[in-house]
Amino acid sequence: MGVRLHGVRRTFPDGTVALHGLDLAFETGEFIVLLGPSGSGKTTACRLLAGLDMPSAGRIEIDGIDVTAMPPRLRDMGMVFQNYALYAHKTVYENIAYPLRIRKMSAADIQARVHDIARLLQLEPYLGRKPAQLSGGQAQRVAVARALVWSPAICLMDEPLSNLDALLRVRARTELKRLHRDLGTTFVFVTHDQEEAMTLGTRIAVLRDGRLEQFDAPRDVYRRPATRFVAEFVGRPAMNTFDGDVRAGVFASMGLTVPVPGWPDGPVTLGIRPEQIECATRETPGAIAAVVDVSECVEPDTLLFAKCGDATIIVRAAGDDLSMAPGQHVHLRLPPAALHRFHRETGVRLP
Ligand code: ATP
Repeated sequence: MGVRLHGVRRTFPDGTVALHGLDLAFETGEFIVLLGPSGSGKTTACRLLAGLDMPSAGRIEIDGIDVTAMPPRLRDMGMVFQNYALYAHKTVYENIAYPLRIRKMSAADIQARVHDIARLLQLEPYLGRKPAQLSGGQAQRVAVARALVWSPAICLMDEPLSNLDALLRVRARTELKRLHRDLGTTFVFVTHDQEEAMTLGTRIAVLRDGRLEQFDAPRDVYRRPATRFVAEFVGRPAMNTFDGDVRAGVFASMGLTVPVPGWPDGPVTLGIRPEQIECATRETPGAIAAVVDVSECVEPDTLLFAKCGDATIIVRAAGDDLSMAPGQHVHLRLPPAALHRFHRETGVRLP
């Protein structure tokens, strides 16, 4: 049981294809993150799940029932959007109670449920206030409370944290994680922020131009990116990628040469994460010589932009190891086990 999207396509009247036959399946209780750059189709997928829009082709099933044409009010889903759209003239209590009132719940049940969810989201002190008297973080929590108060099976959230400042965002993230753990509700969360996706999701669906690039646990998305796009989109600073050619176990690109034992000859894209590059010495077998171009402090680490021929390599090192002056010569080792191999034309990961 769970949610299944089968070949879901959305073409808008002007011919824009927002989703090209999306296949996605997830289970009850997961925290699914739809991640992708602007225009990749995240909101479209979320609206189709909610029933606010209809697919041009394909179907959506929830717990084995075809809901493709089912109106939103019949779907068991709560929703939180970027602009929380709280009722300005109602108190926080009434905002949260609203979904229960339209479901004609008894006054006693309404009171009990509103207080339960308000306690969970630490909103009890504000129940008598109007939305204008709340901070951004509090308003966001009210929107989440309103979406969850009637215990929907699924809660859809489209960039709900984007109006919050950086610190509040991190706090709200932790609250959402706790809430998910406590309620066991299935969460579908839309974001373009890869860090948010990595910290929240049980699984992340990475979208690009209306196509699914990868659907995996955060750790796998980071450690075994299915495509070059995912490799570069997830992780900051981005994975180093170089287009080049392999000849006799050596990869060459723009003056950069890297030993790649066992790799077949031919064109390929090589990738390595900045934190996996090791500082070495001239004597280290396979070490490459590079010259420091820029060194940046990203406490507690140091980022080094080093030139090797015409290629720039980004290295992330712990502590002060790499607080080096521009122009300094360094030796770097790219451990073979840390290298990723992508098809140079399609960007697909190679085994
Ligand atoms: P963002 O992060 O910017 O919200 P997104 O990943 O949520 O982006 P969508 O809003 O799903 O992307 O849009 C996907 C594509 O569909 C985009 O190219 C967008 O321009 C297009 N699109 C969305 N709505 C319409 C519409 N009503 N008519 C035509 N094209 C549309």
